[in-house]
Amino acid sequence: MSLPVVVTPTFTMTIPSTQKSVNYRPFLVKEEKILYIALEGGEDADIHSAVRDILAACINGVDVNTLAPFDVEYMFVQLRSKSVGEVITLRMKHSEDTSKDSANTCSFIQDVEVQLSDIYVEIDSAHSKKIPLGAIIPQQDQKNSAKNSPAVLGNDLGVVMKYPNVFDESLQAADPFDVVAGHIESVWTLIDGEQSVVDDFTFNEIRAWVETLSTDQFAAILRFFESMPALEHTVEYKCSKCGKEEKVVIKGLNNFFT
Ligand SMILES: [Zn+2]
Repeated sequence: MSLPVVVTPTFTMTIPSTQKSVNYRPFLVKEEKILYIALEGGEDADIHSAVRDILAACINGVDVNTLAPFDVEYMFVQLRSKSVGEVITLRMKHSEDTSKDSANTCSFIQDVEVQLSDIYVEIDSAHSKKIPLGAIIPQQDQKNSAKNSPAVLGNDLGVVMKYPNVFDESLQAADPFDVVAGHIESVWTLIDGEQSVVDDFTFNEIRAWVETLSTDQFAAILRFFESMPALEHTVEYKCSKCGKEEKVVIKGLNNFFT
């Protein structure tokens, strides 16, 4: 007699960066085991690779290498809530400001429950992959740019960025020019109402192009990284010892597992 096939349920969630809906299944005990071994080891690279493998196995129709860092965090927390449980218990230490009055210091440790379905990614309305870099001045006008600049308003230049791949460490802690160049998906220009898009450049070509930007333009691109959303959740609880109301912001995937 053959063993019956175990059927796992299917759920749906929305990818935060693209708002696309995808189907997923909870992770299985074999996948949970891989995750816990990685968490126990505590090495970021192992945790990332466990998270990547589990996402790839459980979610239908998505290339995990194209996900934004906050997609990965959100989707993994959703996956975990359907797999292990919708409530996690976080160990919170009440650490009151000790600089003022050491006699009133409370460092009580207690368990606080967090509902995983309450956790979501908030995307700042100012955050966009499409970054306008202002008016461009046509070649023939460059000599008289100050005099001619009002005439060329409406001739725009900009870039479309791509999100860092959390599973690819090649650009982490690299030089800012490399980071910016490595995350430009395309460059567009709008000249006399006609838009053209360039996206077939090599890394060296775009790296050299980035060096020709003005300080303001470079800063505008850096804001894409600075304003990138993150998975975070404010835990509000009352200290069981001293009764004080506390608010703690939890950030980063690893902190949702402790
Ligand atoms: Zn306390």
